[in-house]
Amino acid sequence: MKSVISLVIRYIPRPILQTVSPLAMKALSLFNRGNEVTCPICNSQYKKFLPYGRKARENALCPSCLALERHRLMWLYLQEKTNFFTGSLKVLHVAPEHCFIDRFEALPNLEYITADIESPLAKVKMDVHSIPFPDNSFDVVFCNHVLEHVDDDILACSEFNRVLKSGGWGILQSPVYDLEKTIEDKTITDPAERERLFGQRDHVRKFGKDYAERLRKSGLQIEENTFVKTLPEEKVKRFALAPDEIIFVCRKGN
Ligand SMILES: [Zn+2]
Repeated sequence: MKSVISLVIRYIPRPILQTVSPLAMKALSLFNRGNEVTCPICNSQYKKFLPYGRKARENALCPSCLALERHRLMWLYLQEKTNFFTGSLKVLHVAPEHCFIDRFEALPNLEYITADIESPLAKVKMDVHSIPFPDNSFDVVFCNHVLEHVDDDILACSEFNRVLKSGGWGILQSPVYDLEKTIEDKTITDPAERERLFGQRDHVRKFGKDYAERLRKSGLQIEENTFVKTLPEEKVKRFALAPDEIIFVCRKGN
């Protein structure tokens, strides 16, 4: 089962996976009936979540809403540490995740705008290097698992900084590896070579431990938030969170 899922994830483009997979996932979830884990996003309970990833991680994917560890952690962080669910906020969500879109759209306190360069799930077609909104437009920006794909991650972050209002904040997650410094080489365009060096066929860099420092060059303030460490162990288990995950919280800088 693990290897079948890995193969599917590897060869089926994600937008297609996101639109056709819910039914298949529902079928798979029948095998995982139980109440050992709870998805805080959709409130489904299972014996465990499904394995997910190229090197499949056990207990990762919620079959009901397709949330992964990082999505569940972000949801809990938004609930416990921000006014996202109650404040009157204008939100820009780049490359919106399937598990969040309908739920965020339904929040009456938000003016919620989804954007992407290609995803059929987003309302505004947009390139993060040149965001088609005026300065100081948004209270909140989310852009997860995008910056490893774009030509100029720092330019994209300066754009976020520009469109954030004073006091605005956001979350900018990307895969961060155990490397001292980010590696990138724009001359490499061969997908196989990109996969070998950067971890995926459409990645143009591999972020290292300098991720936060690097994004600060854009003018954004970046906090490496260890919210998961403040949660009791039962919650980390119950919600199947990654115990070392860092949330990269940005705030408008200069
Ligand atoms: Zn779920």
